[in-house]
Amino acid sequence: MLTIDDLIQKIKFYSPGADTDLIRLAYDYAKKAHEGQKRLSGEPYINHCLATAMNLAEMKLNQNIVIAGLLHDVPEETMPDNPEVALKEIKHNFGEEVSTLVYGITKLGKIKYRGMERYLENLRKMFIAMAEDVRVIFIKFADRIHNLETLDAQPPAKQKRIALETMEIYAPIANRLGMGEIKGKLEDLSFKYLYPKDYEELKTDVSKKYKLKGECLKKIRLKLLKAVAGFSVEQNNASESKTKNAERIKIYSIHGRTKRLWSIFNKLKTKNAEDLSRIYDLVALRVIVNTVAECYTVLGIIHQIWKPLKGRIKDYIAQPKPNGYQSLHTTVFCDDGEIVEFQIRTKKMHDEAEYGVAAHWYYDEKGSVAPANNELKWVKELTKWKKEFEENQKFLETLKIDVFQNRIFIFTPKGDVIDLPENSTPIDFAYTLHTDLGDKCTGAKVNDKIARLDTKLQNGDVVEIITDRNKKNPSSDWLRFVKTGTAKNKIKNRLQKTKKESI
Ligand code: MN
Repeated sequence: MLTIDDLIQKIKFYSPGADTDLIRLAYDYAKKAHEGQKRLSGEPYINHCLATAMNLAEMKLNQNIVIAGLLHDVPEETMPDNPEVALKEIKHNFGEEVSTLVYGITKLGKIKYRGMERYLENLRKMFIAMAEDVRVIFIKFADRIHNLETLDAQPPAKQKRIALETMEIYAPIANRLGMGEIKGKLEDLSFKYLYPKDYEELKTDVSKKYKLKGECLKKIRLKLLKAVAGFSVEQNNASESKTKNAERIKIYSIHGRTKRLWSIFNKLKTKNAEDLSRIYDLVALRVIVNTVAECYTVLGIIHQIWKPLKGRIKDYIAQPKPNGYQSLHTTVFCDDGEIVEFQIRTKKMHDEAEYGVAAHWYYDEKGSVAPANNELKWVKELTKWKKEFEENQKFLETLKIDVFQNRIFIFTPKGDVIDLPENSTPIDFAYTLHTDLGDKCTGAKVNDKIARLDTKLQNGDVVEIITDRNKKNPSSDWLRFVKTGTAKNKIKNRLQKTKKESI
């Protein structure tokens, strides 16, 4: 059973200066407020508060966010009739920042609608909260993870609803915030309730497979460690004039990471592979080092020992994924014919891959890295769209296509990167850059060659839009092939306007 001491120990580890007295005080306060309340599972309510706070500490979030996690249910659950009183007290005891966070969570609160209405209202609230203060969403994730972990206690209908809502709303948002670890947890916990039979079957199959692979991975790991150590010695001998440890590569850790069940399940479905042995990244070895240069050196060493598979070397350091993910990936034929994927990254890239935007908070506060607010640009855009598309239904459709789909990177001739949903066309690209560019578009060059306007763009394409200043209207034909809601709506708006003007 989790205790407050566990929580404090955890925080001390990544934030030695944290005010542990204040954290204890928050714990005692929450415990007293929830006195006598029980979760459906029969556990004392405070366990849920503690688990939520622990999930936040797992993301290395700062003391105030963890404290807000401990207190997140106090206003709503202990003073439902006047939560303002509780909030005032929290502000008095724990300061403005904590009370603002708890207020944010309270505002998200409970949703009374049903079906589609409920879905929309939920999305709307989540996005507004996120645009205002993304930390509120971290607390919501931490809270949801523990609710899913204790979902067995809920009636079956509610289990399904919560699992579905998590899959459709929470996980995609976590993904777009670059929080891979959180997204994976949310999905696997929901998978269990949405497709119980598939979940159990896959779990059994996969664990058999892991047992087989385990031994082999141990050997590979040792071999790589030796090779890396050998490499640094050789370098030192070769360049006598250099200081002795200059070329030494420090490996933080090499650990196996197992693929999430939900993502295996989907891969099996889409690839028609039907067979776990065709999934090469079922187990991957993660190599965590200090610097970017060391990442490339380790990749070189791996390729010297084992033969890489064609087309499986990916440099997400030079070209990060749209959600900010960075790593080098390669898949190699190991001894005994085993196929193994390696993922090589720095410590910082690792934290960011697991906790995304939340990790930026940690690094920003340590002052070692420039603030990275790029990820939040799309959140701001969402609030803008919200104004553009007044009807909820339209907003939802746009959101589902433009935000939650797989993304590709497209470059402008100047080298700016625009991320678009898969199968986007030059017209989508034009409208994403600027409405005028879309309206006046007459042609496009993709990688320096004239291309049709309905060309499906590929990741990494360089696209140049050709315009005619005198052109007034987009073509209504474009509506047949554009992919993004943004382009569709802008074309329709422009055409409607012209129609009105000509009457
Ligand atoms: Mn809660």
